Amino acid sequence: MGNLIDGKAIAEKIREEVNKEIEELKAEGITPKLVAVQVGEDPASAVYTNQQKKNCEKAGIVYELKNISSDITEGHLMAEIEKLNNDKSITGIILQLPLPQGIDVKKIQATILPEKDVEGVNPANMGWIVYGMPHLAPCTALAVKEIIDSTEVNLYGKDVVMVGHSDIVGKPVALLLVSQFATVSICHIGTSEAGMLEDYVRRADILIVAVGKANLIPGSWIKEGAIVVDVGINRVGDKIVGDVEFETAKERASLITPVPGGVGPVTTAILLRNVVRAAKWAKKQ
Ligand code: NAD
Repeated sequence: MGNLIDGKAIAEKIREEVNKEIEELKAEGITPKLVAVQVGEDPASAVYTNQQKKNCEKAGIVYELKNISSDITEGHLMAEIEKLNNDKSITGIILQLPLPQGIDVKKIQATILPEKDVEGVNPANMGWIVYGMPHLAPCTALAVKEIIDSTEVNLYGKDVVMVGHSDIVGKPVALLLVSQFATVSICHIGTSEAGMLEDYVRRADILIVAVGKANLIPGSWIKEGAIVVDVGINRVGDKIVGDVEFETAKERASLITPVPGGVGPVTTAILLRNVVRAAKWAKKQ
């Protein structure tokens, strides 16, 4: 693989551990069960939930898709989530996005019981990341952390630049890495518009990019020997590419994730791991 980080191999290792843990849980009479809540129709979500179902069933997790009509009110949706919270046979809940207009996503996410919140979107789970004690954290953020750990780099004092500050990727990644004493800068659209993005990227020992703009980061900006984790997924013609100009970045980076085949498969495996962690958390209650 040269200097490519093999996301599929990392994912495979996680899946093997997950399979073992599920067997152990089943031996104790616990079968993890994940319910995905889908409000209204969304073709992109359908692809995603089909994939979730396949992955879960392969791992021995019971998967159920709960379709809810798009004319549901916020209050009724909260009540539906409460029902899932109270159902002891359900160990994990996923809320598919987007939600119809007029429903406050954050309010619904806050309704999911933290112990069943396998996507780590409940504010309580976000809070545990701030404390440096992640319980159930967002899957993509954990995938980035897992990939960086796989390189065995010592994060202490390293200059880390996180481009993108979303609630589910940029912010939690930055917090997870600062907890390991990396010096983390968070860049976003404001950094770009102030003309400072290049300066930040050029100094990064470890660069993580989660923006969603093809080739936003020219390869020539990458510091020689840097580790590059590209979270972006962009369709360009019939190809999927990341946010980093891969061919030139690969020449300068010591290690780099490809797109596809980098962060994506690890994120999928981490979701399964979160489902197992949730089932174990419920066991302790
Ligand atoms: P988002 O849209 O919530 O956030 C985008 C971020 O990029 C924001 O912080 C914004 O300020 C910043 N940004 C926008 N334009 C910029 C610019 N010109 N310069 C610097 N920063 C800029 O996105 P998200 O949900 O975090 O997702 C980011 C990307 O990661 C998307 O391509 C998404 O498809 C991908 N993604 C991949 C996985 C995976 O498993 N591989 C999972 C989640 C998201």
